Amino acid sequence: MVLADLGKRITSAVSDLARSNVVDEKVFDGMLKEICSALIEADVNVKLVSNLRKSIKHTVNFKELNPNVNKKRLIQKAVFDELVKLVDPHSEPFKPKKGRSNVIMFVGLQGSGKTTTCTKLARHYQARGFKACLVCADTFRAGAFDQLKQNATKAKIPYYGSYTETDPVKVSREGVEKFKKERFDIIIVDTSGRHQQEKELFAEMVQIQQAVTPDQTIMVLDASIGQAAEAQSKAFKESADFGAIIITKTDGHAAGGGAISAVAATRTPIVFIGTGEHMLDLERFAPQAFVSKLLGMGDMQGLVEHVQSLKLDQKDTMKHIQEGIFTVRDLRDQLGNIMKMGPLSKMAGMIPGLSQMMGDVGDEEGSMKLKRMIYIMDSMTEKELDSDGKCFTDSPTRMTRIAHGSGTSVREVEDVLTQHRMMAGMAKKMGKNMANMQKQGVGM
Ligand code: GDP
Repeated sequence: MVLADLGKRITSAVSDLARSNVVDEKVFDGMLKEICSALIEADVNVKLVSNLRKSIKHTVNFKELNPNVNKKRLIQKAVFDELVKLVDPHSEPFKPKKGRSNVIMFVGLQGSGKTTTCTKLARHYQARGFKACLVCADTFRAGAFDQLKQNATKAKIPYYGSYTETDPVKVSREGVEKFKKERFDIIIVDTSGRHQQEKELFAEMVQIQQAVTPDQTIMVLDASIGQAAEAQSKAFKESADFGAIIITKTDGHAAGGGAISAVAATRTPIVFIGTGEHMLDLERFAPQAFVSKLLGMGDMQGLVEHVQSLKLDQKDTMKHIQEGIFTVRDLRDQLGNIMKMGPLSKMAGMIPGLSQMMGDVGDEEGSMKLKRMIYIMDSMTEKELDSDGKCFTDSPTRMTRIAHGSGTSVREVEDVLTQHRMMAGMAKKMGKNMANMQKQGVGM
């Protein structure tokens, strides 16, 4: 990921300065030069970088520096503050209120990640106790409604759309009216995108906007457009006046720094960034937290919010373990909990210092393996899930059926069952210990 590389380069430039015995103007200039070239390589506008350089130099003011001042701290703070300024639009984003219908409309070019992000955002609010739903107003692209339906069903989010109606204004009006009557807190309207900024696209956006009167219009931008983000957001803004932006695919190979800083220059708040294809790959964007994470300083507030929003399901498993039982379903729930937390590296980025410690260890392979294990268990019947797993060892055809159903191999099914047996064995021991402790009156 390019943004992570940018963070590493800036961090190492600052640490080099912190480690050097003498901090003189030459060392300071060297650090500034390295930071600036890292930013330019991450596609940040040259003019913005040059301003950042000037500002840091001005704040530190090396020539007139008081000899008693802690130079290293001062420089580090100046770098941090200027990076925050670079991505800060200086404008507060809209905050939805509970107890009323907040209509959010999405706009953007086709392929930018609009439909995916609509569902991610609905799920985000749903996890925070809002009643959220989706309306598909994309009647232009065949299959758009199916895609939204699929995503929404997976995330258990109510949706509205039509296979036959070709007027997007009508569909969006009907959908929003229906959900308003049903007292949904968050109604997200996905509109159609085109390959280019065509006249009809803009006219359609305006008509939908007039029909659903959104509380907030969000533009979705693909990070790979880099510095062109500024021009594109301006073009959209002239027609559909949006109040916030979500930048997607910041996990990709594109130098996301370009899009983020270009958007900040338009003084429109970036509210979230998309960091992957998974439903949970949506991170709230706040300039300070973003820079803090970029520089490996963590985002503890983000971490706490993230864990709280997950509603990890532990109850049944804990009860089972106390009884010395561990069903296949318990294994599925536990793996699900790990998956809900998101990739390990993402969690590590929120914990100060941990991402540096983990270095370049990739977690793609690990999370793919976990996903396949879950697919396997999702292909089991309720009875099989609640079993102790023995029904599989007695019946190889059962294993073949599951492998077919989940698109995996018998070998992988066996691996899941081995994992389950191991954990069931541990649960049995723990259950016995707990029972003994209870007998002896030891409090738990
Ligand atoms: P739309 O045409 O704007 O509605 O775009 P889609 O929602 O269909 O997304 C286009 C593609 O981008 C899909 O393959 C998504 O899975 C992918 N995508 C969306 N957001 C992200 C993201 O943040 N990261 C990555 N890697 N892919 C994304």
